[in-house]
Amino acid sequence: MTDVKKALVIGGGFSGMVAAICLQQRGVAVDLVEIDKDWRTYGAGISLHGATYRLLGQLGLMEAYHKVGAACDGVHMRGPQDQILAQIPTPALGPDLPGNGAVMRPALAKILADKTRAEGVDVRLGVTFTSIDQNSGTVAFTDGSTGTYDLIVGADGFASAVRAALYTDAPAPQYVGQAVWRAVVPRPADIPTLTMWMGPKLKAGINHVSDSQSYLFLTEDKPVNEWVSDEALLPTLKALLAKFPSPVLTRLAEGLSEDSKINYRPLENMMLPRPWSRGRVVLIGDAVHATTPHMAAGAMLGMEDGLVLAEAVAGNDSRDAALTAFEERRFERCRMVVENSARLAEIEVTGGDHGEHVQLMGKTQGALAQPI
Ligand SMILES: Cc1cc2nc3c(=O)[nH]c(=O)nc-3n(C[C@H](O)[C@H](O)[C@H](O)COP(=O)(O)OP(=O)(O)OC[C@H]3O[C@@H](n4cnc5c(N)ncnc54)[C@H](O)[C@@H]3O)c2cc1C
Repeated sequence: MTDVKKALVIGGGFSGMVAAICLQQRGVAVDLVEIDKDWRTYGAGISLHGATYRLLGQLGLMEAYHKVGAACDGVHMRGPQDQILAQIPTPALGPDLPGNGAVMRPALAKILADKTRAEGVDVRLGVTFTSIDQNSGTVAFTDGSTGTYDLIVGADGFASAVRAALYTDAPAPQYVGQAVWRAVVPRPADIPTLTMWMGPKLKAGINHVSDSQSYLFLTEDKPVNEWVSDEALLPTLKALLAKFPSPVLTRLAEGLSEDSKINYRPLENMMLPRPWSRGRVVLIGDAVHATTPHMAAGAMLGMEDGLVLAEAVAGNDSRDAALTAFEERRFERCRMVVENSARLAEIEVTGGDHGEHVQLMGKTQGALAQPI
């Protein structure tokens, strides 16, 4: 029987919501504080793995998912004239589950937010902490209230304030010399599944997010981490896509407009060495292992963290034993994704071996399909 009766989750992103749902389902009373009063998620697509569907299936959320998201199977690597050069399998990890797919981020966030509330989690929006005592578990909040918790979960993302406050020796995030562009486009009928094209130090891809829409992504070699102004977004993305002779990409580039939800993001990663907990506080998700999106697995890892943390709490008598068990189950899997993704970025920015790229993606997909 666990000694964790009351938990606080700081951050209502994918990781924090799944942690809150899974802890509450196991009899822990959960408070969740989210700094954004409107609980928004930005409007880009997100690719999901077989392992993400395994988790959503376990939470009973696949029916809700199929109403808003798209499912497909495998990854196609295509050449300049759109010919298929390689096919990477994406095994389905359960009956009636897709092996691969994508959805718009706000749609997935809404499914999880509805589930969080339905489970009875006490959600407070527009609120964060002002201080945390990691030993007593006492937390003061920006709304003037205080609370004492057996477990405090820092799920506040890449720029985590919990990490900054309590993990003062954490490594700084590293820029990987690459940026990613994303846009929402009409779903191309001639592309059946997640598809990528390798260009000169560039990689473009498409994944469907619904019956009618896909999201387009493009990684760009960018030695210096610099921002791009809003006015430059459309012409720059079009110019980058023009470097690919692909008829599919040419057609999609012609259709891009100011309404295509173009988003530009320099890529950074961060992997916190062990231990991941300080007293009663543990970090999950991007707060503790932020990967570049080359395996499209960051949100999946964060959501898995939430589930595994709750299983470890329920399966151990003490919080300390639970936190040790949690870290044992998570560290290597998360490290593998962060490091393999960084290597994929390196191959892309150095114009390296495409064969190694395909092989590493396939190997990582296989590893992600293993039980957690
Ligand atoms: C360009 C790009 C593309 C990606 N594509 C994919 C993909 O296709 N598939 C995939 O699986 N992953 C992808 N990822 C990774 C994925 O987006 C992240 O791993 C995931 O969003 C992490 O979730 P999180 O809940 O840990 O953090 P976040 O999503 O950052 O959520 C943190 C939450 O905490 C809140 N918060 C922040 N500070 C505080 C505070 N002080 N107090 C309270 N609340 C706070 C925020 O408002 C937010 O709601 C991508 C990442 C990038 C950068």
